[in-house]
Amino acid sequence: MAYLDKSPDPFHATQNACDRLAAAGFMAIDEKDAWTGKLAKGGRYYFTRNRSCIVAFAVGGAYEPGNGFKVIGAHTDSPNLRVKPRSKRSNAGITQLSVECYGGGLWHTWFDRDLSLSGRVMLRSASGGFEQRLVRIPRPVLRVPTLCIHLQSTEEREAFKVNKEDHLQPILATEALKSLSGDASAGSESAQAAASEGASERPLGEAGAVAGAEVPTGGESRAESDETRAAAEYYDASSVHGWANGQEPLLVSMLAEELGVPAESILDFECSLFDTQPAALSGVHSEFLVSSRLDNLASCFVATEALIEHAPSAEAIKDDPDVSLIALFDHEEVGSGSTSGAGSPVMGDAVRRISSALSGGGTLADDVLAAALSKSFVLSADMAHAVHPNYASKHEKSHGPQMNRGIVIKSNSNQRYASNGVTSFVVRELSRRAGLPAPQEFVVRNDCPCGSTIGPIISASTGMRAVDVGMPMLSMHSVREVMGVADLTHGKELFAAFLRDFREIDAMLDG
Ligand SMILES: [Zn+2]
Repeated sequence: MAYLDKSPDPFHATQNACDRLAAAGFMAIDEKDAWTGKLAKGGRYYFTRNRSCIVAFAVGGAYEPGNGFKVIGAHTDSPNLRVKPRSKRSNAGITQLSVECYGGGLWHTWFDRDLSLSGRVMLRSASGGFEQRLVRIPRPVLRVPTLCIHLQSTEEREAFKVNKEDHLQPILATEALKSLSGDASAGSESAQAAASEGASERPLGEAGAVAGAEVPTGGESRAESDETRAAAEYYDASSVHGWANGQEPLLVSMLAEELGVPAESILDFECSLFDTQPAALSGVHSEFLVSSRLDNLASCFVATEALIEHAPSAEAIKDDPDVSLIALFDHEEVGSGSTSGAGSPVMGDAVRRISSALSGGGTLADDVLAAALSKSFVLSADMAHAVHPNYASKHEKSHGPQMNRGIVIKSNSNQRYASNGVTSFVVRELSRRAGLPAPQEFVVRNDCPCGSTIGPIISASTGMRAVDVGMPMLSMHSVREVMGVADLTHGKELFAAFLRDFREIDAMLDG
């Protein structure tokens, strides 16, 4: 639950996975370096891309070039509301933030929740360079309010249709409080400056730097170099196109306060909204886990734990002939087409570079690499749709997975999922050997559209065999989702069994 609460966005999910792996003895490596001479049998490593995608792997002690990769894939992103590049927006005496919808969320669930903000901020560092820092405001600061019932017609009440552009813009502050007190937050100096200037009340096109990022004048004793000041003028340009002029000053000052930096050092950010309610157990027997982002941080968490359990030390994997690898990608919810998504070369790059580095560098023969890919296998882990008791007819009768009854194999002959008869059998056999409940099956009804996963994307781009599995849940893509607690154990044990037993089962398959 701590992982879910501490990971409101892909950057935090990645950072927390890094911290967990580092604590377990995995070593950070950088994609920018050559890995030849760095990787060794028995070694355990991880690297990130865009700080929102992480690949971690353990090289078996019995690895030889051309041997296979046992891969567990999942995704770090979830549907949410993200702050637009120009965040400033206000109406009817309320300071708002301008947000856009990321992914296919159940947007009506975002109304009347105690929301906050997290993400990545680009900063000018004290040394004059630039740095990226993660930020997470722990307290509720935003809300998407519903319309009072008395202001809705019967028709509107029954429909509750959400216009994604007009109705989801959250409120941040009242302008009344700002003008009355001259201090909206009673917080830091920068917040006070921003509030007293009331810069957000200016029309967007009006000249003048935003207050939280005001260009210092000669009389002020700010310890800044001329160069810094010149750069500040560029970013805080008073023109309508200046970056800071498009930002809500209260937002900039709030981020600055949280990071303990001057507002003018903030050069850019990518922030998303999250529900501040922490994860909890629910149900008479506490058998439900309720939280935001179970899809797919539950799988990320379980995959990370399974890898650590499989490879707690070099000694533990001394007889393992394979590379055991987890890849937690960004941007699954929007199609995976990015540098850090499953549609990027990151998976193929990892297999090629790791194989090459472990063979002593140089160009690995195509033939050897092709052999490695043929021996490899991907467990594509994403959450699955459990049967909803109030909407049971939405599932095809004999393919209705239930919560707390074990992992689900997802199949679709139209290749929305990567599973086939052989790869599904492998999961069933792994489960049998591990003493786990028999996997449940999911196939979407013929009259219903089917979701998809990273499974077919990785399979199509690398040629690796794959199967789609997931832990069953309800309320997928709601701001607050629910799954069975026991399925976390089922998931972790299956993933650990995969890393432990796959090669033996694969050797018994007849090709
Ligand atoms: Zn998902």
